[in-house]
Order: sequence, then C-alpha cells, then structure tokens
Amino acid sequence: MPLDNQSDNRSSATQAKEIDVLVVGAGFAGLYLLHRLSKLGLAVRAFEAGGGVGGTWYWNRYPGARCDVESMQYSFGFSEELQQNWQWSELFSAQPEILSYANHVADRFDLRRFITLNARVNTAIFDEASARWRVHSSTGETVVACYVVMATGCLSTGRVPDFPGIETFEGRTFHTGEWPHEPVDFAGRRVAVIGTGSSAIQAIPVIAEQAAHVTVFQRTPNYSIPSRNGPMTCEYETEWKTEYAVRRETARHTRNGILYDLNDKSALDDTPEQRERTYAERWQKGGVRFMAAYNDLALNQASNDTAADFVRARIREIVKDWAVAELLCPKDYPIGTKRICVDTNFFAAFNRPNVGLVDVRNEAIQAITPAGVRQGGRDYAVDDIVFATGFDAMTGALTRVDICGRNGQILAAKWEAGPRTYLGLMTAGFPNLFMITGPGSPSVLSNMIVSIEQHVDWIADCLAEMRKRDLGCIEPTAEAEEAWVAHVNEVAHRTLYPKAASWYMGANIPGKPRVFLPYIGGVGAYRQKCDDVAANGYEGFVMAPAVTMAK
Ligand code: NAP
Repeated sequence: MPLDNQSDNRSSATQAKEIDVLVVGAGFAGLYLLHRLSKLGLAVRAFEAGGGVGGTWYWNRYPGARCDVESMQYSFGFSEELQQNWQWSELFSAQPEILSYANHVADRFDLRRFITLNARVNTAIFDEASARWRVHSSTGETVVACYVVMATGCLSTGRVPDFPGIETFEGRTFHTGEWPHEPVDFAGRRVAVIGTGSSAIQAIPVIAEQAAHVTVFQRTPNYSIPSRNGPMTCEYETEWKTEYAVRRETARHTRNGILYDLNDKSALDDTPEQRERTYAERWQKGGVRFMAAYNDLALNQASNDTAADFVRARIREIVKDWAVAELLCPKDYPIGTKRICVDTNFFAAFNRPNVGLVDVRNEAIQAITPAGVRQGGRDYAVDDIVFATGFDAMTGALTRVDICGRNGQILAAKWEAGPRTYLGLMTAGFPNLFMITGPGSPSVLSNMIVSIEQHVDWIADCLAEMRKRDLGCIEPTAEAEEAWVAHVNEVAHRTLYPKAASWYMGANIPGKPRVFLPYIGGVGAYRQKCDDVAANGYEGFVMAPAVTMAK
C-alpha cells in the first residue's frame, strides 16, 4: 500500500465523539499539533479532507513540484532523533520526498490513530451554554470538542478563474494544487499552462520536456531566481546535523525563519560595480537568499530597482528571442513584493521550439472553447489545460468552513472586509478556536515549518497553562484584536509590498478585500511578542473557568 494512502483507524481515538481538541487538517501543522497535544494527555482527533497526511505535499503533485526552502531547514526541529535520522537526497526536496517525510513523522510518532482521513470539515458551531464546539465532517460524523484548531494551511483552497465556456472543454484539465495521484503523461500532447506563478514556473520546464507543444498564458511576469538544486552531499548534511541545535534556534529569531547570510547594509551603500558582484554571487548560489543581498530591498524603491534591474538583465541574457524576453521581464512592481519564485530552467524553457508565450495582460483570455483557449481573437487548440492559477490564500480555507461563533456570528461575515485576528492565532467572538499560521502572523512570509512549530508550541503551552489554572475558555478582546490588525497594516505599509497586486494582498481573487494578509514584522520579533503576551498572563485574551476540560 502506498504510504500516502494509509488509512489507519485501528485505535479507539478516532471513534471518540467528545474530545478536548479537534484538529482540522493533517499537514505538517496538524501532525505536530497531534504530537504535542496528545503528549499533554489531551483527548485529540484530526479530520483531514485528503486521503493521506501531508497537506500541501499531499495535494500539489504537479510535475516539478519541490520546496524552495532547503530541506535541512524545511523540516521539523522539535525532535533531535528525527532530525538526525532523516536523510534528504537533494538540497531542495521534491514533493514525493517531502510527502514521504510527512508519512514518516505520522508513523514515527504514532499519530495515525488520531486521524480520520477523507473527512472534510464543513461546519463548526460554538455552543455558548456548554462552551463546546460541535464539528460536522463530510463523513456525516459530529464531534464535540472544547477546542478547535484550524491547521488548514495558507495555500490549500485552489482557484480556477471563471473563464466563460470552461465546462465545454473536451480535453483534460488539471489544477496544480489538486493534481492526480497517478502519473499524467503529456507525451505528444498540446498543453496550455495558464499562469506563471511559483507552481507554473516549476511545472513548465518539466511538462515541456514531454509535451508536443506548451502554450503559456501569462498575465503578470514573475521574478525568478535559479535554485541551483543538487544532490545532498555528506559534508553538507553532517555540517548541518552537527550544528542543528544552534542553527534551528538561531533561525527561530531571524526575519523569516530561514538561515541565510543577510547582508546588513543598504544596496545604495555599495558602488554599482560592488552591487553587481554581490548580486552575481547570490544569483550563482541560487535560491531566495538573493533577496537578502541587502537589508533594504523590501523597503526602498531605489535599492529594489537595482536588484530588479539585475534579474531583468539575466532574463534578457537567457531568453534568446528579444520579444519573448521582454514579455518575461517584470517591470511594474518591485522585486519580492509578489512571492519571489525559484526555478530550474524556467526562462531557458522559452528557447525550446515547443514552448510559446501568450501575453494575456492587455487582452484577457476570452473563453475556453471545446478545443482550447481563445484569446485576442485567436484560438489556441490544445489537448490539455493546466490551471496554475493559484489559491484563495490565507483566508479561503477558513472562510469556506461554516464557522459559527458567539451570537450566531459567521467567520466569513466577520471577515468580509478582510481578516481580523489577534496575533493570527485567534479572532474575537470565536472562543477556543485557534488558527495555525493564520492571517496576521508571519506564515507565508516565513519558513512555514518554523512558524508552524512556534504556533503549535504556543497553543500547547497555553492549553497546559489553562488546564493548570482550571480554565477552559479563551478568547481575544476586541481591543487587542483591533490594535493587532492596525499594527499588521501599519508595518506592511512601511514596506514596498502593497505596491504589487499580489495574493498577499488578496488581489488574485475578484472581489476579495485588498488587505495585506500576513504579518511582515519578522519571525523573531513576532515570536517575542507572542512570548511576552503569554508571560504577561495572556495579555489581550480573556480566560474563563473550565467547564469540564479533561485532566
Ligand atoms: P500564484 O502565485 O497565485 O500564481 C497564479 C498565476 O495564475 C499567476 O501568474 C496569475 O497571474 C495567474 N492567473 C490567475 N488568474 C488568471 C486569469 N484569470 N487569467 C490569466 N492568468 C491568471 O499561484 P501558484 O503559482 O500556485 O503559487 C502560490 C504560492 O504557493 C506561491 O506564491 C508560493 O508561496 C507557494 N508555492 C511555493 C512553491 C515552492 O516552494 N517552490 C511552489 C509552488 C507554490 P497574476 O499574477 O496576474 O495574478
């Protein structure tokens, strides 16, 4: 049986109807939550919509899918044995290896007994009289829990634009975020890829190697840095494993939870020649460390322009056709303000005779027809369409669940003008409902695993403290939430980020409010804030006595 398909209901844990904590999702966040909370002796269960654990890495199986944070860092740090024993085969692991790792974690810490697979949570209703959540899943099961933790991921609600005629297409369609489990053969086929974000940038070069022809429909070009991925060497692995304790702890206090050499000076402090050398070195090393070449690339337009110019020059060097290169050069937003992409041979793929680029910025895709894609009055006949069109990021997975808090308030209605949270952990009016890497926390601007561990640890410590003090109800005050939302906005608007129409701003979904979703104040500063809140008696939260939380 394939690891990712294991459905293990051998323990009575998955049968219990009244529990302390219901975890929604069994990706990395859900797995670590189950581990921490069960160790506290709490009665826990998880509902997982997928047929296996692993979250993002369960769903995103498109060709070329891999992580752009190095595996030595994109991995759990909570267990010394785990981090010493597990071996990664490449610097940047591909999806199958990361999924194997998630399955290994589930087995190693005996977590499957808590997880019900193929169970999507549809509704969660807070009953004020009992201070309990009633949670209904797609299997028809209802569970009553003191606490609910939404470990539903930031990029888990895939989105296909509402193209006219989409239902008439006679070929195969795929979304990168919900890829089939069996291999998809593109040999001899004409493929349309719609979108040029991180997913498309990884998929296009791989699909192009198989397909007869690939037509890429691009609305906004992206800045992308070569990954320079390669096999894990014994020396590199040993260096990391010897230093793991110190390195993990250092990373927890950095700007985005990733250890790389931040050059702590302004781009404008260097001469043009020095800058060129610095950027060239970073380009040669590859990966997102390019954006740490100077400390003000996200803050100062003039500094940012120097990095953007460098990347545009590389694109023009790589892409042979001048007109295609110009189309692939991002020009109207600062580098890094849409998620920086990391690739293997993306720009070079456009030198292949079987790859074409269609600019849909000025003339949008008009329709999907039975035979292909219509744009600019022209019909592009294709056999397959790959929608690499992204996600309803950060809020989609939360608002699509019917979450009903105090006084019958629905979460989606409360967040109509944008998400409102305290620390990205909780939202007022929804007692005992936690979020992992929720809007208003560093989340997608950080190494997700570092942020997941920080949130899980904070919540576990909070629940342990509540149990010690015989408390069973926690909720942020409206004032604390108001102040945090204002702070999240204020910090974001000190940067260049709001200048781009990005999914960070909700700009990829028609009608979604334009609000900067993650917290950009930095992983280290944010951790300190969360620790201070806890040390000050959970400042900004109201805690009330327990009803009957399990001891
Ligand atoms: P994305 O970055 O949101 O990209 C979606 C693409 O579809 C964009 O190019 C977008 O154009 C285009 N698009 C959307 N609607 C369209 C329409 N109506 N017509 C034409 N084009 C349209 O989504 P993604 O590539 O799936 O990546 C999402 C995030 O997942 C990434 O930013 C990253 O955080 C994460 N991710 C990470 C990795 C990694 O670790 N290497 C890999 C994949 C994904 P516009 O830009 O104009 O909206």
